[in-house]
Amino acid sequence: MYDLIIIGGGPAGITAGIYAARQKIKTLLVTKNFGGQITKKAVAIENYPGFEEITGLDLIKKFENHLRKFKDQIEIKMEEIVKVQKQGDVFLVCTKDNAKFKAKTVIIATGAGPRALNIPGEEEFIGKGVSFCAVCDGAIFSDKDVAVVGGGNSGFETALFLSNIARKIYILENGPKPRADQENQEIIKKSKKTEVIINAQLKEIKGDEFVHSLVYEDSVSKQEKTLKVEGVFVEIGLVPAGLIAKDLVNFNERNEIKIKSENGETKTPGLFAAGDVNEGKYKQIVASCGEGAKALLAAFDYLKKHN
Ligand SMILES: Cc1cc2nc3c(=O)[nH]c(=O)nc-3n(C[C@H](O)[C@H](O)[C@H](O)COP(=O)(O)OP(=O)(O)OC[C@H]3O[C@@H](n4cnc5c(N)ncnc54)[C@H](O)[C@@H]3O)c2cc1C
Repeated sequence: MYDLIIIGGGPAGITAGIYAARQKIKTLLVTKNFGGQITKKAVAIENYPGFEEITGLDLIKKFENHLRKFKDQIEIKMEEIVKVQKQGDVFLVCTKDNAKFKAKTVIIATGAGPRALNIPGEEEFIGKGVSFCAVCDGAIFSDKDVAVVGGGNSGFETALFLSNIARKIYILENGPKPRADQENQEIIKKSKKTEVIINAQLKEIKGDEFVHSLVYEDSVSKQEKTLKVEGVFVEIGLVPAGLIAKDLVNFNERNEIKIKSENGETKTPGLFAAGDVNEGKYKQIVASCGEGAKALLAAFDYLKKHN
């Protein structure tokens, strides 16, 4: 039986792990991978204190190395968790491979994953032209025409990253104007390779063995149009990953876990949530780290009271 299980190896989970190790709590950190969303960041991170400019991969490697320094204090397992349950005072954390771990407290730090378009062809062509990660897949689109779906900051930053690789980049926004910051829009305006298409309602991704085109409807003219592209990068937001604990927490309308903001406590005693998985408004690395630290200190207090 562990004192604590932390689920998630992004900024929130890793910070909670570092704090747990220093408090000498018997802890298991279990995660699908280390890094989470920032490994998908297409351009450098410039707002994490202490690093004026650093790639997401480099920053998370530093986080992971820091955590692993405490290897004698904290156990780490690379597993996917499918369910968190509570039986009496004991939490059961169940993996995809049917293993079960027991703990007195749990911190859910599972972050969020990419939102899908849910249009024909999207799932079929994942890995064959459809991508949710330009950093991971961008290189195979060298000198090709591609589309980025989503006119927010992620979409614009992805287009900027791809402008060093692809021949032509279309950014498709479903509304009447892009939602990206003015700064990102100015940078993209200067790039001769990019073209922003507004009012685009995505209909279908078509291909043979690989994607060859993207069909959308112009919501003003109601005309259906086809773009000849070999890559489609989906950047339309995120879905929080807290459903693994659905029987033990309350969600808001966006499926984010409701917590007490001062300490990350959920409606179930001993169960905490930190980072992008919860209802916190500002989803940032530094905010997730802060929440990971707070949730851990709250779990520590809980353990002291209940031991
Ligand atoms: C494209 C992009 C650019 C961004 N740029 C910035 C930026 O410049 N500055 C900034 O501050 N923030 C930025 N953000 C936001 C920032 O990345 C997030 O706020 C932060 O990563 C959230 O950390 P987290 O630990 O809560 O979750 P995540 O980073 O999502 O990590 C979740 C972790 O949980 C694991 N996990 C998920 N489900 C399970 C499961 N069922 N079982 C086991 N493990 C699981 C995942 O593998 C992962 O390790 C950006 C986000 C994106 C998508």
